Amino acid sequence: MTETQTGVRGDSGPATAELVASRVLDVPDFPQPGVVFKDLMPLFGDGEVFRQVIDGIIAYHGRDSFDVVAGIEARGFVLAAAIAYATGVGVVPVRKAGKLPRAAYAASYALEYGEATLEVHQDAFTAGHRVLVVDDVLATGGTAEATLGLVEQAGGTVAGFSVLLELAFLGGRDRLAPRPVHALLTV
Ligand code: AMP
Repeated sequence: MTETQTGVRGDSGPATAELVASRVLDVPDFPQPGVVFKDLMPLFGDGEVFRQVIDGIIAYHGRDSFDVVAGIEARGFVLAAAIAYATGVGVVPVRKAGKLPRAAYAASYALEYGEATLEVHQDAFTAGHRVLVVDDVLATGGTAEATLGLVEQAGGTVAGFSVLLELAFLGGRDRLAPRPVHALLTV
């Protein structure tokens, strides 16, 4: 990971990290006091930057390195759909509990307060298909850990995991080790 003079770093190099940093807004005390919410809507809303970011994720992994893209509800859907369209693969939504209409695998994990559950259809993946998993923010890693487990439970092989932004102080990367994490911006 390289770093700019301003300390901006990421796994796709400092220029891409700067790009993401220029399109993220810090929202203090959302959704609860003490949390700084990383709002990536400005990045999604800028067509040129959004395209560069999507291309950066595909380039990092290699466009032939995955057979399908899984996006984590809800902002991961935006990324997954764009990557899928650009590379001609399908997209699988990993959803919050109770949204999927057919038989699903479920994984629960602890949040700071309470618990969350993610689900994926049992037939979402062809056996052995290589799955690229994407989300907007990696925080504690609980969401990603649950999702990567679901992908494998449903018969997929994790080909990679990308996020736009990683909050390094929350230790998500260590939690997911030895699985590699690709973060365009690490703060
Ligand atoms: P975690 O399971 O702690 O890694 O949290 C990651 C999930 O929660 C991702 O789906 C993010 O969209 C969301 N998330 C967690 N913390 C933040 C934050 N500070 N800003 C924006 N989204 C966050």
